[in-house]
Amino acid sequence: MSGRAAFLDRDGTINEKAPEGDYVTTPERFRFLDGAEQAVRMLAGDGWRVVVVTNQRGVALGRMTLDDVDRVNACMAHLPIAGVFVCPHERDSCDCRKPGTGLFEQARAALPEIEFGRSVVIGDAESDMLAGRAIGARTFRVGPPPMPSLLDVARSLVSGSDA
Ligand SMILES: [Mg+2]
Ligand SMILES: [Zn+2]
Repeated sequence: MSGRAAFLDRDGTINEKAPEGDYVTTPERFRFLDGAEQAVRMLAGDGWRVVVVTNQRGVALGRMTLDDVDRVNACMAHLPIAGVFVCPHERDSCDCRKPGTGLFEQARAALPEIEFGRSVVIGDAESDMLAGRAIGARTFRVGPPPMPSLLDVARSLVSGSDA
């Protein structure tokens, strides 16, 4: 059980994503999606190691600093999240920007009990799904209705009905 990580994307999965081409640059712009906090607590309570993996290209574009990203991530500090891993780089300039797997490798280096093969990746983008498949995890795509929400996925994982 301890080897299971639930890797969560941030924008569009946990919180409302900014309009296309824009970024969540300040805590004032961070708004949880309905049920997201409950979902994180439910997963952690069920023994999942909850890890956030997020692309924040706005840093490379000069729209915000890494400190800004930290301040936004602090909006999740009250939740049982084991780690938040950020790619601040431009497209094609690193191996951590999803669909690359670098953020997941960083998480496993920090939390060595994580087993990718027992883990899940939950996100709203194809890049999340590709990264999840690349590490051999199960993947779950979330989004606005009729797509499932993070809470829907959490419920299915906790009840075991996805098995
Ligand atoms: Mg997203
Ligand atoms: Zn990167």
